[in-house]
Amino acid sequence: MRNEQATALLFELSRPGRRAVRFAAPDVAVQTTELLPEWALADKPPPLPEVSESDVVRHFTNLSARNMSVDSHFYPLGSCTMKYNPKRNERLASLPGFSQVHPYQPDSTVQGLLACLFELQEMLAEISGLPGVSLQPAAGAHGELTALLVAAAYFRHRGERRTKVLSPDSAHGTNPASARMAGFTAVTVRSTPSGFVDLDDLRRQLDGQVAVLMITNPNTLGLFDPHIRTIADLVHDVGGLVYLDGANMNAVLGITRPADCGADMMHFNPHKTFSGPHGGGGPGAGPICVRSDLEPFLPVPVVARRNGHYFLDYHRPESIGRVRAFFGNVGVLLRAYCYLLTHGPDGLRKVAENAVLNANYLLARLKRLLACPQGDRCMHEFVLTAEPLRRRGLKQPARDIAKRLLDYGFHAPTVYFPLTVPEALMIEPTETESKETLDAFADALEKILQEPLDLLQEAPHSTPISRPDEVQAARNPKLRWTPD
Ligand SMILES: *Cc1c(COP(=O)(O)O)cnc(C)c1O
Repeated sequence: MRNEQATALLFELSRPGRRAVRFAAPDVAVQTTELLPEWALADKPPPLPEVSESDVVRHFTNLSARNMSVDSHFYPLGSCTMKYNPKRNERLASLPGFSQVHPYQPDSTVQGLLACLFELQEMLAEISGLPGVSLQPAAGAHGELTALLVAAAYFRHRGERRTKVLSPDSAHGTNPASARMAGFTAVTVRSTPSGFVDLDDLRRQLDGQVAVLMITNPNTLGLFDPHIRTIADLVHDVGGLVYLDGANMNAVLGITRPADCGADMMHFNPHKTFSGPHGGGGPGAGPICVRSDLEPFLPVPVVARRNGHYFLDYHRPESIGRVRAFFGNVGVLLRAYCYLLTHGPDGLRKVAENAVLNANYLLARLKRLLACPQGDRCMHEFVLTAEPLRRRGLKQPARDIAKRLLDYGFHAPTVYFPLTVPEALMIEPTETESKETLDAFADALEKILQEPLDLLQEAPHSTPISRPDEVQAARNPKLRWTPD
């Protein structure tokens, strides 16, 4: 039987007069003269729930436990790199020198914080091979937009008018969206059946109107494009810039540098690659790195150093201006800084090697169950197709499998992305999972595929609600659970 209290709203737990905290009578004279004008006073007290402290604690603790998280479940959400978030980074980022400062404090009083951010800029420049760094953007998508605005400023400065931004059909939706937001026309480049950029189609699309090619490498199928240098050369030959979407840097950290592959600009997702906590719309960051002749156009401020003194440099006449308040999302950046220092250069390379090893182990186990159209090997993630299950009568087999995995205590993989694979299940285990966890996940998937179809079609069976209408749930939330 369901515990009614566990599913009630806080308002429904309310009992008149119940309190979590009672204050002692004041020991000073009470100010009785009106401190607020008549019009500003409410007619009656606000209808807040009247509850005890234990009501409140249980209510929110129970709600929080209904979520899946990397601290509670394996979370193989492809493209999102849901790796473990080390608690040590939380502790360091909350040191008072970081968490108790005010953004309007003079630079001289936050030298330690600025030194960390400056060093982070240098580390990102080293990893990318691109010397100009801005920590300002608030997410990967925001980094894309910022870099495209930098590219636009660069071409304006050169007196060139270029209107097009290319991205492959396997790209994340943010790539064409950022292109549009930055005022460009977004143009799609086809992929070959094996999942790489179709060089013939690229050649056809390239002309003097192309400002930027945005490319994810390894791409969203978990494949490293072997023609990346040729692709970059082709773009450079028409005077365009190459933007690397760095969401998949987890596969190549310390092994290859985007600049060496021909990238002129890129973003990092510290909340993916460098273990920042993310999800639920929480803060991320999207620092960008650019080659030196693009550096003057970066947003202000940039963290700079002169004569051993760190400062926020606003004096940059060619800058595109601000893209974010103050210094950016500093909390996430500090966690990335701690992560990078903890691992060091050799450790970062190990991160990438183990991410690729884990993904290939899981692929080797799963490809016997579901086909991997792009082959037997992957980088840090891979994409399976559940398309053949349609023949068994499932209308949306990828969705059904994803939903059923929740009953087994696993977060669902990414589904229906990339768009180039039908009934796609995109799986990224990350380097922080053990062989036992990977085996348990593979075992669960194996069991699920042998279950009666209705178990899959009606899953999940263990969650507070089963299958909300996802569009309605977002547009028209019904913030009340009613047992049926
Ligand atoms: C996550 C992701 C993005 C967007 O990054 P956010 O930090 O979520 O804005 C862009 N491209 C790819 C390939 C991604 O996986």
